[in-house]
Amino acid sequence: MNEQVLPQDPPAFRAYVRTWMKTHYAQFVRDWPAEPDPVSLAFRRGWEDTLCRHGWAGLGWPGQYGGKALPLSHQAIYLEELARSGAPLGVNLIGHGIFAPTLLHFGTEAQKQRYLPGILRNETIWCQGYSEPGAGSDLAAVTTRARKVGRDFVLDGHKIWTSFANLADYCFVLARTDPDSQRHRGLSFLLVDMRQPGVRVEPIRQLTGEAEFCEVFFEQVIVRQDCLLGQEGEGWRMAMTAASFERGTYFIPRLVQFERELASVRRLIDQAASGLSAVALQDYRQRWSALYTDSAILQLKSHRALTAAMSGSPPGPEGSSTKVHWSEAHQRMLDLAMQLLGLHVCTPDARHQAETEFFTRASLWSRAETVLAGTSEIQRNIIGEKVLGLEKG
Ligand SMILES: Cc1cc2nc3c(=O)[nH]c(=O)nc-3n(C[C@H](O)[C@H](O)[C@H](O)COP(=O)(O)OP(=O)(O)OC[C@H]3O[C@@H](n4cnc5c(N)ncnc54)[C@H](O)[C@@H]3O)c2cc1C
Repeated sequence: MNEQVLPQDPPAFRAYVRTWMKTHYAQFVRDWPAEPDPVSLAFRRGWEDTLCRHGWAGLGWPGQYGGKALPLSHQAIYLEELARSGAPLGVNLIGHGIFAPTLLHFGTEAQKQRYLPGILRNETIWCQGYSEPGAGSDLAAVTTRARKVGRDFVLDGHKIWTSFANLADYCFVLARTDPDSQRHRGLSFLLVDMRQPGVRVEPIRQLTGEAEFCEVFFEQVIVRQDCLLGQEGEGWRMAMTAASFERGTYFIPRLVQFERELASVRRLIDQAASGLSAVALQDYRQRWSALYTDSAILQLKSHRALTAAMSGSPPGPEGSSTKVHWSEAHQRMLDLAMQLLGLHVCTPDARHQAETEFFTRASLWSRAETVLAGTSEIQRNIIGEKVLGLEKG
């Protein structure tokens, strides 16, 4: 690991990260042995490995585990500058962003010693095994079972939409360990080695042509007692705590990306302007202006979430408002981009090729954004009940 000395003063820290990202990402792209493809999992993993090799993992972890113990404000600056460099998101987001803080919070010392070094070096990729064919929005309906046999568990079940399961070395699985329990009681949080017998991963081909999430089948999988995180039956509480770890920072890279794309859409409008009627041009400009306002409001919401997380206040329903707002505004922006690109999407010409490829993929992928991490309907239920105080429907 590169022992870099990071400036503590926030503006100096930002300037340092910005320069570092600019230089190293450009170098990484130049050195990439094939045609650089920021969408491909190999490219994304390669860049993430580079970041980890240079000490950019574990920024918030305590020093004794190889972390830098930086405050959340500095982690936010890092994420902003990383996204601003134009580099893609990594493939071990769940390992770094969700599992590691959960492990630091609930794990035994032996578990921390076992799992943290692999995440720090990006050698072990993690995935999250919560959703099932009959338990998505209604996560408490989980039916994956883990029977106690001697001191160990035997795991049987079927998970779905498990992001990066095809790359993952480990999965944290929400499973029912008390066969007589119902709903959120009697669930446990198990750390499962994806390479062991009885684990089968079937990638699901998506609209974009990629297959980065999967079905995962567990058939008679032995899970050792020391792979139980926290106490037996405490899985629901742990899953909810795990979800809260990203709450201050989840939207930061996504909102920087939103801003970058908005600037590209602006260029598309300017390029198309001379060929448009006055009415059409006004329509495009108004829609762009509304999206610009969305972007500004989303930044404020993100700052508010970060401030709340930094002051240690428990997660509130504000995250649902940001989730609905971001995912739906993003779809509106990509619809606008696709309309502006118009015929170029069907009959690509060299001048518009890069934008057409980028926006076509982004537009198709954005269909998933109103579903993942809780659908828009579920977020609206939360806003209705917890913010507006409406009765449960
Ligand atoms: C790209 C992507 C990545 C994902 N990655 C992971 C992952 O890594 N790990 C993981 O465990 N899961 C993952 N998921 C799963 C995701 O959490 C679920 O898709 C989501 O929670 C919705 O569950 P579902 O697909 O089963 O839909 P369902 O729950 O079956 O919902 C179907 C429809 O009914 C609506 N609906 C359901 N209940 C209500 C209600 N009470 N009120 C109003 N409307 C309702 C929903 O809004 C939706 O429109 C991922 C999903 C996507 C799209």
